[in-house]
Amino acid sequence: MTGPAPAAIPVARHAPPGMKGAAPAAIPVAPAQKGPPVAKPAPAGAKGPVAPQAVEPTHHEDVVKHFAGHVDRANLSSAKKAAHKQTAAQVLRQMTPRALRRIVRHSQGGIHYHNDLASLRDGLAAYLEKGGQAEYAAPLRSGKTRPGGAFTWLRGKGALHLDGGYSAEQIAAGRVGSRYGRAASARDIHAHELSHAIDGQLGSKTALSQSQEWKDAYHAEIVPSLPDGTAPLSEYARKKHGDKYLYNEGFAEMGRLLYSGTVSHEEVQANFPKAYAFWVKQGLVAPLAKLLATDDKPRRTMLHEIFDTSITTGPIHIDAISGDKDER
Ligand SMILES: [Zn+2]
Repeated sequence: MTGPAPAAIPVARHAPPGMKGAAPAAIPVAPAQKGPPVAKPAPAGAKGPVAPQAVEPTHHEDVVKHFAGHVDRANLSSAKKAAHKQTAAQVLRQMTPRALRRIVRHSQGGIHYHNDLASLRDGLAAYLEKGGQAEYAAPLRSGKTRPGGAFTWLRGKGALHLDGGYSAEQIAAGRVGSRYGRAASARDIHAHELSHAIDGQLGSKTALSQSQEWKDAYHAEIVPSLPDGTAPLSEYARKKHGDKYLYNEGFAEMGRLLYSGTVSHEEVQANFPKAYAFWVKQGLVAPLAKLLATDDKPRRTMLHEIFDTSITTGPIHIDAISGDKDER
């Protein structure tokens, strides 16, 4: 997707990419509901300039190192390691301290990086089998389900499972793709899956996507079709499992929109004012330094489709792809 440059997040300074030799899992988890105070976000629709939210650069650096440590521990090529670290850092730096704290707290079961889709599938299957969830591993082993990324919650701990998506060269060569849209970039996958971690344990009362406020915003802005019949955010964001909407997918797709850096926050707010206000209120996005006066632009689907099937069942959440092309 092309679009205007993302709104600058007021981060004072960034850690350099490629944190070689960083120690994994060195981040202490802040107690639930505690932690450094987050500047009070402005209400959506407020007039005039809004003071930017304070973002703690130290915390960004810590979490970037935390991810880099997990990348270093994975069995990856050096090129893939460098790529994963760069992508994780790019996405993490779009986030607020509260978003980062939730990711760290909700990934105590590990951040599992893989070289490609095949090793992601096998690694996820092994993880599920080890966790006593063989029934969920079976469709992976049989090849029925092809995960593009996953977030699981086993034995009280969340875990991220990432391949990281495809390189620009692979996408340009047309060698990868989902059935409905273009291939997922590494930033797409990271932003979507990390947003599942921000959301938290599926089915728990603490999961943000299960709050009435999110559901209201979802039904008002993510479900209704645009005049041309297309989805405002993405088809995947308004997917149903049976007759139930997958609010968590809408949440993760909103996170992809906000954190993958492809669309300005002004545009996000103009198209999804309620959903955007929810994310700001939760302290997950820095408020805009400058608000738009009006939105008179024609609306369009804001995200390309990258996933085909959401497998949201029990403790497992898998974003599956069903394109007939492989990445190699
Ligand atoms: Zn998802």
